[in-house]
Amino acid sequence: QSQDRVFNFAAGPATLPENVLKKAESELYNWRGCGMSVMEMSHRGKEFLSIIQKAEADLRALLNIPEEYAVLFLQGGATTQFAAVPLNLCKPEDPVDYLVTGSWGDKAFKEAQKFCKSNVIWSGKSDKYTKIPSFDELEQNPDAKYLHICANETIHGVEFKEYPTPKNKDRILVADMSSNFCSKPVDVSKFGIIYAGAQKNVGPSGVTVVIIRKDLIGNAQPITPVMLDYKIHAENNSLYNTPPCYGIYMCGLVFEDLLAQGGLVEIEKKNKKKAEILYQTIDESGGFYRCPVDKSVRSLMNVPFTLEKSDLEAEFIKEAAKEKMVQLKGHRSVGGMRASIYNAMPLAGVEKLVAFMKDFQARHA
Ligand code: PLP
Repeated sequence: QSQDRVFNFAAGPATLPENVLKKAESELYNWRGCGMSVMEMSHRGKEFLSIIQKAEADLRALLNIPEEYAVLFLQGGATTQFAAVPLNLCKPEDPVDYLVTGSWGDKAFKEAQKFCKSNVIWSGKSDKYTKIPSFDELEQNPDAKYLHICANETIHGVEFKEYPTPKNKDRILVADMSSNFCSKPVDVSKFGIIYAGAQKNVGPSGVTVVIIRKDLIGNAQPITPVMLDYKIHAENNSLYNTPPCYGIYMCGLVFEDLLAQGGLVEIEKKNKKKAEILYQTIDESGGFYRCPVDKSVRSLMNVPFTLEKSDLEAEFIKEAAKEKMVQLKGHRSVGGMRASIYNAMPLAGVEKLVAFMKDFQARHA
């Protein structure tokens, strides 16, 4: 990457591919000869329609999204979906199941409590969110309207490697994929709804992608605000009101770039390689660095670790920043360090981090 850029390990908003940023810069004030920036276009004009349609087509190609699913580009972040999901899928008296593997799953569960009868069927809290249960031991409610999971817990670095089979009568699995969206292939047909804030793997903040099986649309509770009603957005192809136009355009450029790299099979290979060298460095440090997460469910995207000598953490972060590796401080709720290594983090960034970690250890062990 360019000399004037840092390696940004932030959890989101996060680093974006340099070639995507450069492409956006090159057409910033005159998009493909139309004389306007994407920021200035009517969302109903032919130029923007071509942008949003291509973004959707490319995302469908990337994730192999079946015809029976709608793709929506919304606002409000993944947090708004915590409310939209129960409002659209349940009546107030309906039970729903939540599997809580970290802070985000917990937030989703708590928001759902306002709109239906949400239950936690498993929580990793007593293990400080370092585990995912074996699916056989889950006691799912057969009357639940859906089973909700957070596919990758951004703060705790816990990621589902396979998905539970929903045992509820409608067999609906709902997943918050904010922090591992488009980082690997996913069988969309296993899910009722997948939602994701864009600002980790696929674009800037301000866009939330919702992929929903079409037969689940149209049952919103009467109190549902129009902006949270999937039917309104699906009928209007995400153009009921003014969408986050520039963000959608940026996501489109990222989708194009992911396809050009060979699609999600290739992306997953790169992500595995990056995660492998980082976890290996932690595990082979003789306890100098430690990652608390169960090895079988360690995230390819967010790698939390602590220093045995915790008083060195501030020094670690300061020295790393001096070497142009930034945003390595762990979430305020868990402390320590966290390296987020989303799709756009180059292998060279992780290699540099690993070299730095080894050198830091040699100097401070
Ligand atoms: N879910 C997960 C897994 C996240 O990492 C985040 C992080 O920001 C959110 C939900 C909340 O997303 P937003 O800030 O877009 O509302």
